[in-house]
Amino acid sequence: AKAQGRNNFQTYSHKMNSDSFTLLALRSSMHTAIENHEFVIHFQPKVNAETSEITGVEALIRWQHPELGLISPSQFIPLAEDNGLIVTIGEWLLRNVCKQSQAWQDAGLKPVTVGVNLSARQFLQPNLVMTIANILAETGLAPQWLELEITESLAMNDLDYTSSVLEKLYEMGVQIAIDDFGTGHSSLSALKKFPIHTLKIDRSFIQEIASNPHDKAIVGAIVSLAKGLNLNVVVEGVETIDQLNCLRSLECDQVQGFFFSPPMPVELITEMLALDTIP
Ligand code: C2E
Ligand code: CA
Ligand code: CA
Ligand code: CA
Repeated sequence: AKAQGRNNFQTYSHKMNSDSFTLLALRSSMHTAIENHEFVIHFQPKVNAETSEITGVEALIRWQHPELGLISPSQFIPLAEDNGLIVTIGEWLLRNVCKQSQAWQDAGLKPVTVGVNLSARQFLQPNLVMTIANILAETGLAPQWLELEITESLAMNDLDYTSSVLEKLYEMGVQIAIDDFGTGHSSLSALKKFPIHTLKIDRSFIQEIASNPHDKAIVGAIVSLAKGLNLNVVVEGVETIDQLNCLRSLECDQVQGFFFSPPMPVELITEMLALDTIP
C-alpha cells in the first residue's frame, strides 16, 4: 500500500477513514512525524488561463504514514490545529518551501510565486511575522515570491487583528491571497480594508459553471469586483476544457486544477517548471 500510495499521488489511502481507532493512531504518531520525515510537500501549478504559462505553485502538505498510507491534509490538519502541532508543522513547511523556491531560482528556473496555506492557529501566533521574516532571511528568498493563503473565515474572525498582521506582512513585501473566496462570511468593506493581492475563487463555484448560469454570474461578478479593487484572481478546481473556456470568456487571469495538473512531488514539478508552460 505504501509503494502504491507513493506512485499514485493523486489518491489517498483507502485504509484511511475517520473511525476513532484511526484518529487515535494519527494523533499519537503526529508528534514524531516531522523527525521521521513522514511529511511531504507536493506542488500544484497555477497557470495563465490564456497561455498555460506557469505563474506560480501552491504547496500542499501530505502525510506518508508508515502504516496508514498517504493521508490527506483535510484529515490531519484539523487534528494538528487541536493539539497545536500545526505551528511546528507550518514552520517546517514554510522553511522547506522557501528553501525549495530559492533552489529553483538558483537553478535558473523562471521565478514563480509559491503559495503556502496558513491555518488559523498559525496565523494567530504572536511571532508569525518574525518567523516569516527569519525564514526569508535564512533562505535568501525575496519576499515577493512567497504568497500566504488565508481563508475568509480566518480573516474575518477578528478584523483589526487580521489587518494589523496583514499590514506588516504586506510591508515586508509578501503576497497575500484570500483562499476559498466566496465560501466564508465575506465583508466587502473588509476586502477594501485588508492589504491583499489576490482572491482565490473556491472550487464550489466552478464545478457546474459550464452548465449553471447562476454560478457563471457569481464568478463573473467576483472577477469584476477583484478587477475593480485591482486584485489578481485565481480560480481553483478547474477540471475540464468546458470550465476553462467558460472562465476564459469571463476573463479570469489565472487558473489551477486537475485539468492542468494535480499537486505533484518536487521532482515532477521541477520538470514542469523547466518547461515553463503546461503542455
Ligand atoms: P485548499 O487550500 O483549498 O487546496 C486546494 C485543494 O483542492 C487541494 O486538496 C488540491 O489537491 C485540491 N484540488 C486542486 N485542484 C483540484 C481540482 O481540479 N479538482 C478537485 N476536486 N480538487 C482539486 P488537498 O491537497 O487535499 O488539500 C486540502 C486542504 O487542506 C487545502 O485546501 C488546505 O485548506 C489544507 N492544506 C493543504 N496543505 C496545507 C498546509 O500546508 N497547511 C495548512 N494549514 N493547510 C493545508
Ligand atoms: Ca489554498
Ligand atoms: Ca482553496
Ligand atoms: Ca477549497
